[in-house]
Amino acid sequence: MTDRIYLDYAATSPVSDMAFAAALPYYKEIFYNPSSTHSLGQAAASAVERAREKCAAAIGANADEIYFTSGGTEAINWAFASVVGSQKKRIAVSTIEHDATIACADGLRSRGFTVDRVKPNADGIVAPSALEKAIGGDTALVGVMTVNNIVGSVQPIKELCAAAHSRGALFFTDAVQAVNALEINVHDSGVDMLAVSGHKMYAPKGVGFLYVRRGVTVKPFILGGEQERGLRAGTLDVPSIVALGAAAEETTAQRKINNAHIEAVRKVFLRTLECGAPVVCGRGINDIVSVVFNGVNGGRLAVALSCAGVCCSVGSACSAGSAVPPQTLVEMGVKNADSSVRFSFGRGTTVEQAAKAARIVNDAVSRLKGQIV
Ligand code: PLP
Repeated sequence: MTDRIYLDYAATSPVSDMAFAAALPYYKEIFYNPSSTHSLGQAAASAVERAREKCAAAIGANADEIYFTSGGTEAINWAFASVVGSQKKRIAVSTIEHDATIACADGLRSRGFTVDRVKPNADGIVAPSALEKAIGGDTALVGVMTVNNIVGSVQPIKELCAAAHSRGALFFTDAVQAVNALEINVHDSGVDMLAVSGHKMYAPKGVGFLYVRRGVTVKPFILGGEQERGLRAGTLDVPSIVALGAAAEETTAQRKINNAHIEAVRKVFLRTLECGAPVVCGRGINDIVSVVFNGVNGGRLAVALSCAGVCCSVGSACSAGSAVPPQTLVEMGVKNADSSVRFSFGRGTTVEQAAKAARIVNDAVSRLKGQIV
């Protein structure tokens, strides 16, 4: 695998050395059930609570506002499930949300909700004025992601949240792609709920959390035990949670250095791309870039790149295999969205790899040019 260049960090990241080392003792030495009341179980429980504090600190929250989940998708499902039974029967989401959010919002229709959709502008940004038009006093919940997973666009969360609150609606944000690059402070932005996933921030897959602001009521989501204050039953995955806490702390500590590194990588990558009249879609964090290569099919290009040793995607990993162009690009009005490929960079991407990958892209594009099907 070492000869491959991995440019798909938005799909998943490796577990960092620090997160891995933090988790290890909890597999064999301190393997106890954190719900056990004996002293060994309580050692595991203490580790979970320390991790909760670290996750909270990473987003400016209080520890009792963090609920561990199996990842971003579960956190999103939980946030939307919290409005079932509400007197208000409208939900508003942007049209560039992750599939999990779109599906959860649509799923609420069978519970009597209508779903209002808010389009982004050409840069992939959802304007607060557009949201204001889409919501009313009967809107229960608004969901807009902090950073889009296809173009990296950063949403004006504080303003969007204020617009939702001005109509009495709760505000949820999917911050899965945001935590590495952006400083997040939930008390400053005022969001009511926020989702984070471990595997996009150098922690394991299958772990994440939902932030729920004090005073906001969420319903029990998984039944069968008293874990997570009786709201999410099931024995906690202590090693993964400990790794998540370590990764959250590390991400905050390294953010400045990491962002400078990613900026350098992106610059070299884009500067070296020259074939197929590459068009960068939208504006956002440096970590994620979708590029349209006019005259080339994006799916074919991604396959050719994989064969040539560059691993990237067409749209999100969750929609991989779908023949339709990424919804985000379509909603932004990007021309030839089916000629797009997403590249995403991470801590392990070197400037040399970025330059080499761009040269490989140039070769692949010139070979494929004109072969659109
Ligand atoms: N939200 C966004 C923006 C994502 O990119 C992803 C993963 O691709 C998710 C949610 C889902 O997170 P998880 O894979 O932890 O379920």
